[in-house]
Amino acid sequence: MNLESLQQSCPLVSRMGHPADSHVQVKNVKIGGSGLVVMAGPCAVEDEEQIMTIAAAVKAAGAQVLRGGAFKPRTSPYTFQGMGEAGLILLKQAGEAFDMPVVTELMDSEDFDLINEYTDIIQIGARNMQNFSLLKRVGKAGKPVMLKRGLSATLEEFLMAAEYIMASGNDQVILCERGIRTFETHMRNTLDLNVVTAVKELSHLPIIIDPSHATGKWQMVSPLSRAAVAIGADGLMIEVHHKPKEALSDGPQSLKPERFNQLMQELGHIHGIIRQTDSWS
Ligand code: PEP
Ligand code: MN
Repeated sequence: MNLESLQQSCPLVSRMGHPADSHVQVKNVKIGGSGLVVMAGPCAVEDEEQIMTIAAAVKAAGAQVLRGGAFKPRTSPYTFQGMGEAGLILLKQAGEAFDMPVVTELMDSEDFDLINEYTDIIQIGARNMQNFSLLKRVGKAGKPVMLKRGLSATLEEFLMAAEYIMASGNDQVILCERGIRTFETHMRNTLDLNVVTAVKELSHLPIIIDPSHATGKWQMVSPLSRAAVAIGADGLMIEVHHKPKEALSDGPQSLKPERFNQLMQELGHIHGIIRQTDSWS
């Protein structure tokens, strides 16, 4: 796939028709362009104390967007499925308390109105990347959509999924690479950082990296976050939990607030250097 062929299949996503980088504005946060945006928070909202504690910590560390799942796509039906609407209420409350836009996953078209009422960015999860009716539904939302790459999706399929959203009328799309499934089982997934450079060549859309789901191990989150910023990603989505061992989901890949704070400082330094060596614009 080159720029010419992408222009045929994905005229709206392609950089050919839109040479400048696009950005998505969510309240006072600009995603794309020269800044670095970090979305952070727990995998799932668990209770008021948990989301407020974590929101306070990630805000203090410099995160701009608060994440937290209320409807969780879990591999096993017997594990915590999320708090549902009660979780959405708590997430919105925490976002307002700390002046941060929020992002949460929409798993099913039938929950659209509910999610839309509470969130600032609608997340489409990896397992739904090719749920075309869901993509068309969020394409009609007048609100930013963060589209995660499917577990086994090629770059072309990923960009075509974004095209579905744009073709339905929504140009506020943020791409998110969260690791793909390969023969390697050491990590939860394999983080495809190549895709950042490829997307920057082929598309004007902002792309962020989720090193938490990409690796499944908190020890790997900081190094891969640093690499993601160094390669030119527009932002990161990072899972943070103040008591990872007690987390109801994804504790092993969640950073404690102190480590997240340290990482944010490191990312600031790396981003400062990268801005000066930017080769894309
Ligand atoms: C998430 O971010 O909460 C999530 C479930 O991620 P993914 O869809 O990438 O697995
Ligand atoms: Mn998670």
